[in-house]
Amino acid sequence: MKTIGLIGGMSWESSAEYYRIINEMTRTKLGGLHSAKSIMISVDFAEIEALQDHGRWQEAAHLMVAAAQGIEQAGADFVVICTNTMHKLADEIQANIHIPILHIADATAQRVKATGLRKIGLLGTRYTMEQDFYKGRLINKYGLEVITPDGPDREIIHRVIYNELCLGIVKPESRERYLQIMEKLVQAGAEGIILGCTEIELLVRETDSPVPLFPTAKIHAIAAVEYALAE
Ligand code: GLU
Repeated sequence: MKTIGLIGGMSWESSAEYYRIINEMTRTKLGGLHSAKSIMISVDFAEIEALQDHGRWQEAAHLMVAAAQGIEQAGADFVVICTNTMHKLADEIQANIHIPILHIADATAQRVKATGLRKIGLLGTRYTMEQDFYKGRLINKYGLEVITPDGPDREIIHRVIYNELCLGIVKPESRERYLQIMEKLVQAGAEGIILGCTEIELLVRETDSPVPLFPTAKIHAIAAVEYALAE
């Protein structure tokens, strides 16, 4: 079994899910008392959020590289960055370590491709929905057609992530707004929807949606176990 290295805390609400899913999945696959070998370095999300908000990505990269190097030095075999947004810095992090990063967009796109869907909605932070590091990877590397909500709806999705979900607040009225926005994506032709922020699956369940959902924390955590247990 390989040792999984997790960069957590972004937010810890979803990092706790990663930890739970990784260990449940390992027990399911190996049985008995088996659990995952893992190392987590968890950052202070207030520091990260402030850097994101001010566009100080270079300083955020230094923090992320330090975490990844710490994980490598502690003996992890690969790195799992437990957030979609901070994959904006994945290339820079990868350039500064010697173990591979298991990219969340790759794990998710592979799952989408396996279902045969081609036109897909994407929800996430403003950065994930609007910038190329994530959407571009889905389009250029995997040939998916990706649609996102309009500007005002993207703002709602983004604000609920930072003002509620990352604080552990789950409001029925926010779930309703999300479902309305998801319905618009379906009307616009989305055959499935990527929950491209690791906290959204704490708000919206797979059973809430008329089209298949792709919850990225769950998909990424399962991919990490599969990779850890592969020969
Ligand atoms: N966990 C979220 C994500 O998957 C957002 C928090 C962050 O900005 O890292 O993008």
